[in-house]
Amino acid sequence: MRLNALFDSLPVTVFERMSALARDAGAINLGQGFPDGPEPVDLLEAAARALSARSNQYPPSRGLPELRAAAADFYHRFDGLALKAENLVVTSGATEALAAALMAAITPGDEVIVIEPAYDAYRPLIERAGGVVRSVTLAPPAWRLTLEALEAAVTARTRVLVFNNPLNPAGRAFDQDEVEAVAAICRRHDLVAVSDEVWERLVYDGGRHISLSSVSGMFERTLKIGSAGKLFGLTGWKVGLIVGGGDLLEAAAKAHQYIAFSTPPHLQAAVAEGLAWASSRFAEQATALARSRDLLAARLAAEGFEALPSQATYFLCVDLKASGVDEGAATFADRAVIEHGVAGIPVSAFMTGDLGDSVLRLCFAKPDELLVEAARRLGQARLSGIAR
Ligand code: PMP
Ligand code: GLN
Repeated sequence: MRLNALFDSLPVTVFERMSALARDAGAINLGQGFPDGPEPVDLLEAAARALSARSNQYPPSRGLPELRAAAADFYHRFDGLALKAENLVVTSGATEALAAALMAAITPGDEVIVIEPAYDAYRPLIERAGGVVRSVTLAPPAWRLTLEALEAAVTARTRVLVFNNPLNPAGRAFDQDEVEAVAAICRRHDLVAVSDEVWERLVYDGGRHISLSSVSGMFERTLKIGSAGKLFGLTGWKVGLIVGGGDLLEAAAKAHQYIAFSTPPHLQAAVAEGLAWASSRFAEQATALARSRDLLAARLAAEGFEALPSQATYFLCVDLKASGVDEGAATFADRAVIEHGVAGIPVSAFMTGDLGDSVLRLCFAKPDELLVEAARRLGQARLSGIAR
């Protein structure tokens, strides 16, 4: 029996592995990114109502009309995009949106630019679609993206660029110059952009999310991806969105027809209600998360950790080397979860080179008492790391 060599050789994802270790050890899980706190009751009730009162049969492949209309309004409000419902495709999570977008854009042999650190799903999906990954590597602590670095990665075979803004795991919301640089490269070399913007509403400290789709000349060549999981802190819902137009979006919609075809209708109905939330409610969510970030950062500093800046997402990274720990983040993470009861994600899982080797990602979307206790335990793991 011969299996596909790519998937046969892949390990269980780092998120699945660390969550399993955390469950086995009864550890605090600051690994896989999910919030552990109050969930938006209005949306849970909306989903429950839809489950009993509405159809549980296949919804349209491109999504419930009310969700597509709500998403069009939402992205007009936040990104200034002039959209119709036809510009939206609902998917089963951003992961499926990525799969559909990459399948639609890539012809076998195409080179695809990926910016590292890169979310774990990009490479296998690109390679399974026949693409060849060309990495542009960002360096901590600034994780800054330059036009020169992007330009250096382009060859005559480059067709697609995958952009993740805000960037998981670095917690960076790229600034105007960086987003313009991505746009300039795409326009100059006629590339399709797959812009993974799932963290778009979780930008802190007065920072601003700049959607690649909103930059001049980019809408028609960009598939912008969103996730209700991140917008509403309901990661298990797996409702994703693709925003785009023309043949590009049509091709992604066709790919979606043969991956998931459609997405549970009651969740779609609830997400449509959520997208109509007042802007202030999205801002309040971000403010609460920034507070959690600050609490974790302060407690980690008191334990002797050196944290990197985090401006967005659920994640704060610590530099173990700068914190005095002479041990790779992957080794530290295993020891921390098994011996000290707290899980994190080594950033080496997002990078092919060694730049992330001493960086550990921690999810701060947790109640205060868990963050305080996790920092205390990480402090113990640090001390035992220094002692050995
Ligand atoms: N892209 C990025 C950058 C992510 O961080 C995540 C999950 N955190 C996803 C995609 C997947 O989103 P979903 O759960 O909606 O599939
Ligand atoms: N996106 C989540 C994270 O970065 C994990 C999603 C998953 O487990 N596949 O933690």
